[in-house]
This record gives sequence, structure tokens and C-alpha cells, in this order.
Amino acid sequence: MANNNMRVVVDECCSGCRLCASICPDAFDMGDNEKAVPRHKTIPASLEVEYEIAAQCCPEKAIKIFCQV
Ligand code: SF4
Repeated sequence: MANNNMRVVVDECCSGCRLCASICPDAFDMGDNEKAVPRHKTIPASLEVEYEIAAQCCPEKAIKIFCQV
């Protein structure tokens, strides 16, 4: 069952390095402005690990995962 409270955003610190889209292609795409774009606003339970890995690996710490209550 999906956890509907987990959200993800990429902030302005994204350098467009493409690492997240390379290692977690089900979670991130690259936008026209060369910034990463999450494929989901609400993280599906099946992809929670991928989003967490991407957030930990992002060299700019631009990926923010938070719980919205
Ligand atoms: S890994 Fe971080 S800096 Fe690189 S494209 Fe993804 S969000 Fe942007």
C-alpha cells in the first residue's frame, strides 16, 4: 500500500549532473531546463528506497524528501 504522505521536491541547488536520473531512472527524469524532475510528487511505496538512495547520493543535496501530514 502506498504511503501517501511522502513527498519529494528538487530544489534550486540542482546542478543538472544527472546522477539521480542515471541511478534511479524510475524516480527521476531531466527537465528541459537541465534540472532533475521527480516522476512522482507523492512517492509510491515501491519506490521509497530509490528516492532515498538518490537523495543520499545527490552531490548538491538538492533532493528533499519529507512527510506531509
Ligand atoms: S543528483 Fe542532485 S544535482 Fe544531480 S541532477 Fe539529480 S538532483 Fe540535480
